[in-house]
Amino acid sequence: MPIENIVIVGGGTAGWMAAAVLSRIGKGRGIGVTLVESEAIGTVGVGEATIPPFVDFNKLLGIDEAEMLAASGGTFKLGIQFVNWGNIGDSYIHPFGNYGYEIDGVSFHHIWHAMQDAGDKRPIQVFNVETMAAHFGKFARSEDYQQSGDLPPTNYAYHLDATRYAKFLRAFAEQRGVVRQEGKVSEVRRDGENGFVSSIVLESGQEISGDLFIDCTGFRGLLIEQALETGYEEWTHWLPCDRAVALPCGRDDGSPPLPYTRATAHPAGWQWQVPLQHRNGNGHVYCSQFMEADEATDILVNNIAAKPQADPNHLRFVTGHRKKFWNGNVVALGLAAGFMEPLESTSIHLINTGLNKLVSLLSAGGITQAQEDAFNRFTLKEYERIRDFLILHYKSTNRDDSEFWNYCRTMSVPDSLSEKIELFRQNGQIFREEDELFTETSWAAVMMGQGVAMEGHNIMVDQDRLSAIKGEIDGIEQSIRWLTQHMPTHAEYLAKYCPAK
Ligand code: FAD
Repeated sequence: MPIENIVIVGGGTAGWMAAAVLSRIGKGRGIGVTLVESEAIGTVGVGEATIPPFVDFNKLLGIDEAEMLAASGGTFKLGIQFVNWGNIGDSYIHPFGNYGYEIDGVSFHHIWHAMQDAGDKRPIQVFNVETMAAHFGKFARSEDYQQSGDLPPTNYAYHLDATRYAKFLRAFAEQRGVVRQEGKVSEVRRDGENGFVSSIVLESGQEISGDLFIDCTGFRGLLIEQALETGYEEWTHWLPCDRAVALPCGRDDGSPPLPYTRATAHPAGWQWQVPLQHRNGNGHVYCSQFMEADEATDILVNNIAAKPQADPNHLRFVTGHRKKFWNGNVVALGLAAGFMEPLESTSIHLINTGLNKLVSLLSAGGITQAQEDAFNRFTLKEYERIRDFLILHYKSTNRDDSEFWNYCRTMSVPDSLSEKIELFRQNGQIFREEDELFTETSWAAVMMGQGVAMEGHNIMVDQDRLSAIKGEIDGIEQSIRWLTQHMPTHAEYLAKYCPAK
């Protein structure tokens, strides 16, 4: 059956991202796109930190960056600062760009390690523009300075007010023909022959039929789970946090918005700080096996300087994913598909890549088993690669000050991660598998930041070669220093480029 009507159920970040993308393919092809959402149910209300591919998501839609950031009170994000993860008192930044660049086909962290062996004392961070800019609270986009010579690019993402961003996308999608229907879905009807979902029925009695349904109903998974009983693969033994308490706060302490997310480890989890122009998003992710909600809330409140803007919002989740992300004529996106951890801001990214895959696979002819299988296979691989990277943060720690950290430090991890840690320890080797999201610098930053030290490096780097490229290496550091000195502060940049409306 050809696809004539696509129905998106849910109007959170996932629903409106899907609507914005599908409005582009629906228009001109005679495909109707309807989005159903319930204001009474509302959205999860968190999820405000992104990663660099999200910049392209907006660009590909033709969204004006400054306009979008102004509308959503957004700021720029150069990476994540991790505090107290390896040991209490430690701090490092996982930056979005690379350490230096490849020389003779060898990644920079090998060259840096060889330099250390030869007595050079410079930390690897001075060879990374995002870390240095973050350190000084500076920001500029590459297009602002690329004309000033051979300078490294700045890789960045955004912090966004989730509610304002969804509203922005709603206007974008509605202008392009998406029909929004307010109402609570009370029934999901299925075709007797193939079990496909044929329609949804609202509490008002209105029935909405579709050929393809996008389940963006959040944790409840109204179609993918409640109707189709797809099943859920739990990863709680590796990613044990299962609760969060969120508490947005004002900027009344007068501090400028940081150009990075902060993730501070606590005795049974960690606290996020996401700086927006008009407020800070704060929250405490924790493991209910080791901490009660009251204690988690107290820790959060005691670690926030500014005044709360709302009551604490308590959330529960189970880390893992649906056994199928695409089942019949239902494709789950966002929290309906699964949830790992907000630690590396990968959830909104997975909505983005889910949509990329969906759009690439859709054909005028209708839905096939091959599409479903390919979508599920590739999505699972993406989840597994991200999962390993997240587990690394919990596993690679020396902390022994709480039962939670004792559990994490001693837990068994997937073989794929054990191998990665071992190879890095031996000689800094990092193999990126199957187009995985996280770069060599990402893996190296977290491993080195949390105490996994390289014992050797790529044997292609010898001291003779190092002497020959010393001038080039010094040049990288100097151009980064020059650049970050000449960048405006992040606050100045926001005030000029995209002041919040
Ligand atoms: P929701 O926001 O829950 O939206 C569900 C929608 O479905 C709502 O519109 C609701 O009204 C509708 N709905 C549900 N049932 C019905 C019904 N019966 N009838 C009609 N409508 C219905 N991701 C990141 O990328 N970065 C982060 O920093 C980040 N931090 C997070 C922190 C926490 C603590 C949590 C839990 C998640 C975080 N995430 C983060 C994930 C991120 O919040 C989600 O991926 C994102 O908000 C998408 O949510 P959603 O649209 O899938 O679900």
